[in-house]
Amino acid sequence: MAGVTFDHVYKRFGDATVVTDLTIDIHDKEFVVFVGPSGCGKSTSLRMLAGLEEISEGRIMIGDRVVNNVAPKDRDIAMVFQSYALYPHMTVYDNMAFGLKLRKTPKQIIDERVHESAKSLGIEHLLDRRPRQLSGGQRQRVAVGRAIVREPAVFLMDEPLSNLDAKLRVEARSFISKLHQRLETTFIYVTHDQVEAMTMGSRIVVLNAGRLQQIDTPFNLYHNPRNVFVGGFIGSPS
Ligand code: ADP
Ligand code: MG
Repeated sequence: MAGVTFDHVYKRFGDATVVTDLTIDIHDKEFVVFVGPSGCGKSTSLRMLAGLEEISEGRIMIGDRVVNNVAPKDRDIAMVFQSYALYPHMTVYDNMAFGLKLRKTPKQIIDERVHESAKSLGIEHLLDRRPRQLSGGQRQRVAVGRAIVREPAVFLMDEPLSNLDAKLRVEARSFISKLHQRLETTFIYVTHDQVEAMTMGSRIVVLNAGRLQQIDTPFNLYHNPRNVFVGGFIGSPS
């Protein structure tokens, strides 16, 4: 269980600064959505938090621990990617077990967790299949299952539904919201879709061109947008 803090974080690629002075406080067990147009720095922010990208300046904390120099596997987080990034040659079971095997978790515990998680996601009957034998929605659940078995303190999801068709996406949204309620962990969810952000987030981080525009509840963003960008993006009346 842990909150997350971005403390004056910058990210530079060569001469380009793609995240500028980002300061955000995410509470333990909160469901926070990062939203903003394509290229505004959502994925880069998450990747810095996950340890997949170096932080150019500033600090990121998970709980009360500064993680700037902590290896990704030791950050107590799990990430679900847009592409799902499943291993094509492994069964669903092995995809889900992989992270735990790396951490030398005892076989019996791996087996319990994989079956328990698969059951809770409705994919227990798919454990022997390989990714190519699954539908898009099923693959998405496997990707989530692979994150759940690790029992992370913080869940990161980067546009996890963008490969699903509209109908499945609506189902998957409510499935992820329920998952958050059941797991009682911190969720950080990235989307470029303002409707998705407004329906899923308890608070929303609005980014534009690498800068924080506003962090607030859906209600406040809609009724009290801090600037023209937020008002225009969220579609509020002002
Ligand atoms: P978003 O996820 O909001 O669409 P990204 O975080 O992926 O945006 O990208 C933010 C900006 O950083 C973009 O302008 C992108 O081109 C740039 N960028 C991302 N990764 C790299 C990289 N490895 N090298 C150079 N520029 C990058
Ligand atoms: Mg992105």
